[in-house]
Amino acid sequence: MNNRKSLDTLFAQAGGMIDSATGGVIPPLQASTTFVRDENYVPLSPNHLYGRDDNDLVRLAEEMLAQAEGAQAALLFPSGMAAVAAAMRTVPNGGRIILQTGIYWGTTKWARDFCARRAIELIEIDCADGAALAGLNVDQAHMIWVETPSNPYLKIVDIAACSALAKQLGAVLIVDSTAATPVLANPLAQGADMVMHSATKGINGHSDVLAGVLATADACDERWQAIAMDRHDAGAILGAFEAWLLIRGMRTMALRVRTMAASALELAQRLETHPAVDSVLYPGLESHARHALARTQMPGGFGSLLSVRVKGGRDGALKAVGQMNLFKRATSLGGVESLVEHRHTIEDTVPDDLLRLSVGIEDVEDLWADLKLTLEA
Ligand code: PLP
Repeated sequence: MNNRKSLDTLFAQAGGMIDSATGGVIPPLQASTTFVRDENYVPLSPNHLYGRDDNDLVRLAEEMLAQAEGAQAALLFPSGMAAVAAAMRTVPNGGRIILQTGIYWGTTKWARDFCARRAIELIEIDCADGAALAGLNVDQAHMIWVETPSNPYLKIVDIAACSALAKQLGAVLIVDSTAATPVLANPLAQGADMVMHSATKGINGHSDVLAGVLATADACDERWQAIAMDRHDAGAILGAFEAWLLIRGMRTMALRVRTMAASALELAQRLETHPAVDSVLYPGLESHARHALARTQMPGGFGSLLSVRVKGGRDGALKAVGQMNLFKRATSLGGVESLVEHRHTIEDTVPDDLLRLSVGIEDVEDLWADLKLTLEA
């Protein structure tokens, strides 16, 4: 069985989980936070003592995600940002982080505040630009953090090149692969040490769970051990119901993600030639600066996120967004419903003519009709 097939099978069957008590083909929702011991004070079940440490649904979701990423281990967190913070907290006071520019603003903001508090040197650089990376004048770092495809500019970072640089600097390379999902890219196979996802997005896919995940190529790595101990001791654990919903969402992940990527490519191609559009940022387009690299790193498709720069500046963008009907005006991405966002309204460094689209599973012709009407109104 090739990897793609086995991934589909793994997810469709919820990691092969059959409820041994009833034969149920979906995992039972065990909501108990504590578990009894017998009259000799021996736990009835050795892996069930207290909910913060022992939740079968969290374990199952972590196993599924570890397998999907070809990782030795995965850890779930109550949000993507909790996973980002858990990873960055492994950098010692006075250390150095190299951070990609133009990524999810929440990561940049958290890193800036955290580094200022801990006297950590933060070097912000466009890691999608090979020349900029080559010009980096440091001989040591603790962490390189990249996001590919990046949100909202859809830049593609050469993971293998960053991995070589990380080795040279003695740094851990962490890739935020949220916009790709494990269906379309596996950064560990390209040399990343850890991969991170906001599982709130395409992994869950239904806009009803907040979750984050970190997965590692080396479960013995001391930084991974520190993350695992901190997650355990500090208690940043996902709730049982969220884990159950996440597993349910993951069962259709492969289908959803491929359909959304195919529709996003179709819409990106049509938008690129529309007279009301200035440019389209999408790695699946031949006009994208790193299209060839994207084909290698994301052989199964280019994701459901794209950004459109419309003619008419801020007014043109806001007029268009106001006319949309199927694309809901809301933040976030990766859900089955299509969303549109005028990022500039909440993040003023993003160009005011840019609209970020998250393409869902609706009929692509309906989505196109919505966009076309909007642009031609
Ligand atoms: N990384 C990326 C690329 C994101 O888009 C987001 C959220 O939009 C996050 C991380 C943070 O994830 P969460 O909202 O689950 O905390």
